Amino acid sequence: METEPETTVIPGSQFRSGFVTVVGRPNVGKSTLVNRILGTKVTITSPRPNTTRRSVRGVLHRPGVQAVLVDTPGLHRPRTALGRRLNEHVDEALGDLDVVVAMIDATAELGPGDRLVLERASNSCVSQEEGEGELYQLLVVVNKVDRATSEQVLSQLASVYELMEGSAPQGAGRGVEYFPLSARSGEGVSELVEGILERLPEGPPYFPEEMISDVPEAFWVAELVREQLLARVRDELPHSIACRVTEWEWPRVRVEILVERESQKGIVIGHNGAILKEVGTAVREQLPEGAFVELHVQVEKHWQERPEAIERLGY
Ligand code: GDP
Ligand code: MG
Repeated sequence: METEPETTVIPGSQFRSGFVTVVGRPNVGKSTLVNRILGTKVTITSPRPNTTRRSVRGVLHRPGVQAVLVDTPGLHRPRTALGRRLNEHVDEALGDLDVVVAMIDATAELGPGDRLVLERASNSCVSQEEGEGELYQLLVVVNKVDRATSEQVLSQLASVYELMEGSAPQGAGRGVEYFPLSARSGEGVSELVEGILERLPEGPPYFPEEMISDVPEAFWVAELVREQLLARVRDELPHSIACRVTEWEWPRVRVEILVERESQKGIVIGHNGAILKEVGTAVREQLPEGAFVELHVQVEKHWQERPEAIERLGY
């Protein structure tokens, strides 16, 4: 007769999991870092500020541990209703977390925007835990080291360290760790991942193993279209562009591209539709074979200023 296998609990073998919020000024490389850590693209990136318009969760699965990475829009001084909404997303993501990754750019002076980010990030750690080692959950990343000299990296590390020591709540830079890295090349990223994983508390797997992001398919296709447009347009136009899927009859997907003014329509379409054609091709290449993406451009006046339009667009 077979005996029931005995279950032995090995100390320290409990599943660990947690939410890891990535914050920073626009353009420091948050989305690039999240994609790099996950080894796959779950969030779009571009050289334009405010590319990310809502928090995107990407899931890192490792044996016995799960990290839910939350990519947030850049914290900034808002000038529009959309800008205010983006900052709200950041506040929400900072409200409920286990680890914060605060990012700064090695190649740019530390500015008031970075101070605000670091202050918010450390506050969100302190409110979580009382007593000793309260800033233990805060990891500070100095990104883009591939483009900086080692002097620049060192001086940036020194400035951010000084800032944390000086202004962190209760004067406590205690427990904060610093990671110089390049989200683009991957240099230094595995050290950060280790730092994140070792800080995760005991907890359940929040997502099934096959799930790597919480982005709905339709939203994702609209984001891919926006990413390709951002790579091709300039100046203020990136802020004016919004995309949404209006019909989904796989493999046919209809995406509406909204701009704010009649004069922007032509730029997005391009000479003889050249830009739209390029965008369609580049998006299709990132979708399963056979996908057919239909692009339509429409004017929706001043949607950036209208909360109901922002909500309808899912931002
Ligand atoms: P986000 O606004 O913080 O999400 O920034 P993105 O991830 O969209 O990146 C903004 C720009 O910085 C993009 O053009 C990226 O390719 C670039 N970038 C991000 N990380 C690095 C890096 O480590 N090195 C360099 N050279 N560029 C980077
Ligand atoms: Mg982003």
